[in-house]
Amino acid sequence: MKPRNKLQRKILKLSQGLSPLTEYQYKEAVRKVGLHIAKYSPKRGYECLDCGHTWTGAEAKRAVCPHCAAKLEVDKTRKKNFCDKSYFAVVTKCQGFQVVRMFFMQTNLRQGSEPTYWICEAFQRWLTPEGKTQIVSRARHWLSHYCDCWNWGSDMELRDENAGHTVTPWKVVGQSSVISEIRRNGYAGDFHHCSPYTLFKRLLTDNRIETLWKVGQYKLVAYSFGNSYKFDKYWSSIKIALRHKYQIKDPTIWFDLLDSLEYLNKDLRNPALICPANLKATHDEWMAKKESKIQKERERQERLRLQRIEEQYLEDLKQAQKDEDEYKNSKSKFFDLEFKDKEIIIKPLMSVKEFIEEGRQMHHCVFTNNYYKKQSALILHALVEGVSIATIEFSLEDFSVVQCRKAYNKKPELYDRIMTLMKRNTPQIMSKAV
Ligand SMILES: [Zn+2]
Repeated sequence: MKPRNKLQRKILKLSQGLSPLTEYQYKEAVRKVGLHIAKYSPKRGYECLDCGHTWTGAEAKRAVCPHCAAKLEVDKTRKKNFCDKSYFAVVTKCQGFQVVRMFFMQTNLRQGSEPTYWICEAFQRWLTPEGKTQIVSRARHWLSHYCDCWNWGSDMELRDENAGHTVTPWKVVGQSSVISEIRRNGYAGDFHHCSPYTLFKRLLTDNRIETLWKVGQYKLVAYSFGNSYKFDKYWSSIKIALRHKYQIKDPTIWFDLLDSLEYLNKDLRNPALICPANLKATHDEWMAKKESKIQKERERQERLRLQRIEEQYLEDLKQAQKDEDEYKNSKSKFFDLEFKDKEIIIKPLMSVKEFIEEGRQMHHCVFTNNYYKKQSALILHALVEGVSIATIEFSLEDFSVVQCRKAYNKKPELYDRIMTLMKRNTPQIMSKAV
């Protein structure tokens, strides 16, 4: 991207004048960001992959090399090669701009060889005292979402924000220098594990962050970066906590507590509720109350559901009573039919009430679609040990089975046997129909 205005031209020019990493910064990056491993086996003891020194000692998770003083993570596997990729930031200022430079670093360790470190600058974030930002960056390989897919051969140019720029390391290498506007807004030399760029940008543009940082609510600030929705939503509660000098040491639990209080319609401005001396215990207590309210609500819904079913049933029964005589008049001549094999009994539904029971039990629409009113159809069911396993619609026009379904309108397991029984007994039905 070519510079389009005076500010961009200035930034690009200044960017080209930034110095490479100093030897001190390089060494610190190796020490703080690089991977440091000691191989350990009970037989051979420790081997430092930084300098190759070996020694014996009790098994531990971490060790310090007695020869080169490196702080080492202990590896007990058979692995011989290690590769680690990470980012770090260098924080500097330049002609009134705040600059956060992002470096990529790859460590390669191999048992029996010198470690190698490869460091290259990936991008820079430039900030004006008003919080305006500009990225100067290398190009990225297209179609890649991996965080280290930079095109290292490309130039540092003005570029638009993209996926790769979301890298926000909080490891900072070397002495940080910071513009006076950021110091004025509360920064006093420690990032408290916040990413420098995000912190600076918010300190310059959001006076809530400035307020929080100045009173030492560092954890809350860090939390706000990834949870702006909750931060905005509960800002008035945060203000009350501040007024009462309440330190929010565990923001995740604290916001959870606010969620519970809100669910229970409690006053989120009441310091007695939102500034508890024992946060964890209070959180658990309100959480339990919330859970029990949710449970009660669930039970209420279930009662309502059963009540609706009951009401519908009573209504259906009323309807059935009205239609009972008509059904009997038209179908009672079939009522003594009964077709059996050694297991199955097939017989007609004897009343509209039976249509209701059948529909409910089988979860289909034999009642709701008024099959009992259909003059041209005889509805039967197949029973095994007194329980219906299928509902059958038989046509009194062409004397054949129209449909035969079990619960949820599916095909019954004994479909073939039911059909055989029906076919064998069709003459009986025909004789009644005339
Ligand atoms: Zn060593």
